[in-house]
Amino acid sequence: MLKLPGLIDPHVHVREPGQTHKEDWDSATAAALAGGITMILAMPNTRPPIFDASTLDLALAAAKLKARCDYAQFLGAGPDNAEAVAKLASRAAGLKMYLDSTFGELRLDDMTLWMPHFEQYPKDFPIVLHSEARSMAAGLLFAAIYDRPVHIAHISLKEEVLLIKAAKERGIKVTCEVCPHHLFLTMPPPSPPPFSPKMGEGVRRTGGGWGRKEVRPRLAAQEDVDTLWANLDVIDCFATDHAPHTLPEKDSENPPPGFPGLETILPLLLTAVSESRLTIPTIIEKMHINPKHIFHLPDQPETWVEVDENASYEIRAADLHSRCGWTPFEGWQVKGRVRRVVLRGKEAYKDGEVLAKPGFGKNVRDD
Ligand SMILES: [Zn+2]
Repeated sequence: MLKLPGLIDPHVHVREPGQTHKEDWDSATAAALAGGITMILAMPNTRPPIFDASTLDLALAAAKLKARCDYAQFLGAGPDNAEAVAKLASRAAGLKMYLDSTFGELRLDDMTLWMPHFEQYPKDFPIVLHSEARSMAAGLLFAAIYDRPVHIAHISLKEEVLLIKAAKERGIKVTCEVCPHHLFLTMPPPSPPPFSPKMGEGVRRTGGGWGRKEVRPRLAAQEDVDTLWANLDVIDCFATDHAPHTLPEKDSENPPPGFPGLETILPLLLTAVSESRLTIPTIIEKMHINPKHIFHLPDQPETWVEVDENASYEIRAADLHSRCGWTPFEGWQVKGRVRRVVLRGKEAYKDGEVLAKPGFGKNVRDD
C-alpha cells in the first residue's frame, strides 16, 4: 500500500452558486475525496460570479454547509473591481483573471483593465491567469513589468511550455499547471462546422460525439502533448480543471466546454508511473508540495491518502461521485486505486464510500 500526502487541486469548478444540477459543494468535494484530493481551490466563474464581498460570502456560506474536504475560493477579476478584490485577498485563494474571451462580470476586454489588478492585488497572494498562446505571453509581460508572481492555468501547447521555460530561466515569477486531459488526450478530428439542423441530427445519431471532446483550452496535437511530457520539470502543478456538465448538455446542439476530472487524475497519473513515464515523488511534488507553496496553503495535519498501486480496473462513470454522470476516460484501463483517505485525523473515504459529512471541510483561509 502506497501512502501519499493529502493532494491539492488548485483548479476546480464547483458550480455553486447557480448551476447545482451539474455539481455543488457537496458532490464536488465528495468526488475530490474519492480521487485522493483533500483540498480544492474553487474557481469564481459561477452564477453569479464571485467578484465582490457579497458574492464571496454567498459561495463561502454554501461551502461551509456542504464541503466535505478543505477548500478556498478564488475571486474573479472584472473591469471595475480591482480595489474591492484587493481588500478581500486574505479571505480568498487568489485572484483569477480571464485574459481570453469570457463574458459578464469577469470580462476584461483590453489590457488597461488588467493594469489595476496587477497594481493593487497584494503580491503575497497569487494571480492565476486563464491565458492561451499569445495572451499568455502578454500575461508574462505583465508579470515582468509589475514584478509579481503569476500562475498560468492549464497550459496545453508546445509554444506555451517552451515560453514559460524561457521566462523562468530569465527570472520571471511564473508558475504553471497542466491538466490530465492535455497529457493523455489529443485533438479529435476537426469539429463540425457551426450547428445546422442537419448536422444536429448527425451528431445525435452518433450518440453524442464531438460535444464530449469540447474543452478549453482545446485538446492539442500529439506534438504538443509530447512536448509537455518532455518538459515536466517546467510544470509546477497537476490540476484537474474539473468542469462538470451533464451528459444531455454535452450531447446537445451547443455543448458547453469542460470535463470532470477529480476522480480520474490520480489513477491516470499512477498508470503513467506504472509505465515508467512518471515517478511518485513527481506526483507528490506537483500535487502537494508545489501547490502548497505557490498558493500559501496551510498544513493539513494527520492527513494522508492510501493507494493500492497494483489494483487494475476500468474507469466507469457509474462508479464516480461527480453529479455530471460521465467522464472522457470512460472504459480506460488504469492501475492504482485510492483505498482510504484520512483528513485531519478522520477517515474521510474508504473503498468507494465517502465518509466525511457535508460541513466537515474547512476554509483554509479562515484564521
Ligand atoms: Zn477552469
